[in-house]
Amino acid sequence: MEYSEGIELAQEYAERALDIMKSNNIPATPRNFAIWYTYANEKYPDLKKTLDVLISNKQVFTSQKNDEVYDKFFTNSDEGIALQETSQKIESQVGRVLDMMGDASGGVADFGKTLTESLGALTDSKGLVGIREAVQSLALETQKMQKSNSALQSKLKESSQEIASLRKNLEDVQREAMTDALTGIANRKMFDTTLRQRAMEAMEDGEPLCLALADIDFFKKFNDTYGHQTGDQVLKLVANILQGNVKGKDLAARYGGEEFALILPTTKLYDAKTVCDHIRNAVSTKRIRNRTTGEEMGNITLSIGVALYHPGESLTDFISRSDEGLYFAKGNGRNQTVLETQLEVINAD
Ligand code: GH3
Ligand code: MG
Ligand code: MG
Repeated sequence: MEYSEGIELAQEYAERALDIMKSNNIPATPRNFAIWYTYANEKYPDLKKTLDVLISNKQVFTSQKNDEVYDKFFTNSDEGIALQETSQKIESQVGRVLDMMGDASGGVADFGKTLTESLGALTDSKGLVGIREAVQSLALETQKMQKSNSALQSKLKESSQEIASLRKNLEDVQREAMTDALTGIANRKMFDTTLRQRAMEAMEDGEPLCLALADIDFFKKFNDTYGHQTGDQVLKLVANILQGNVKGKDLAARYGGEEFALILPTTKLYDAKTVCDHIRNAVSTKRIRNRTTGEEMGNITLSIGVALYHPGESLTDFISRSDEGLYFAKGNGRNQTVLETQLEVINAD
């Protein structure tokens, strides 16, 4: 039987989830399964980290603790509900597969028993009739076994396909939860999660990590002049330019209304400035024109502030140092990138 890697992974996650639940005495309820399936596929680093800490502290997973984890990560959001539904479906599919495996091994055991009995009959039998009967019963059992095997195979295949589509569903929900609906780039939630992750990696690897915050200049005026919908198109355009200028582990995200963020791992301040100036240039040289009327709407510019992560500092401090650069850029004429080191020099004066 052929499984694509995706199906195998889905089953592996489900099995891993059930294993951990079993070894931690966690009751196999749909809610708990949702938690541990999500833990096993490692899509939510926050959830994984929380549970790892609980496990390493030898926390007992009382029903109260399970409820707490569930409420923290799965309730009060559409994506939480969708995750739960999908996980429930996966759980029942995995259950069905396991049941079928059970049926199959029962069948094999029966077959084995018939074989032994028939062999016994063969050796014991004195006449041709006895041998013929024994052979006939063997042939019959073999046929039955073949039939149940092929029925099992097609049931397993069906189940596997369903698991694959459920897994895709789960991944879609997770991707949507991390994507900004208007621009299609990472949203604030993804930004928060990624920044935490990258800050940890920067500390572990001793590599530099830069954060750039970019804000569109005079965007209120643009909206007032050309309308909010045209403003939305500009946000999409800026997001596309940002996305098109990052690579590898870099992340471009919509931080808020008309503010964007760039997380740049293994990047020094001056290299971050090069990236930011390149983006700024690409945005400001783009001619903004109304597609239907052909009207020219002038240029859009960005102000950007960049900071370098100080290992161990809080993310709030890191973000506010980038924000200070941005604030200074606004006051200093806009359409520019300001590094935190430039602020240090200015503050020292
Ligand atoms: P500054 O150069 O100081 O940044 O000026 P600004 O006008 O860009 O700044 P301000 O913070 O005063 O205004 C931000 C504007 O961004 C206000 C709001 O109309 C607009 N904005 C925020 N989110 C959206 C959005 O989703 N779509 C559109 N079209 N506009 C948005
Ligand atoms: Mg703003
Ligand atoms: Mg602005």
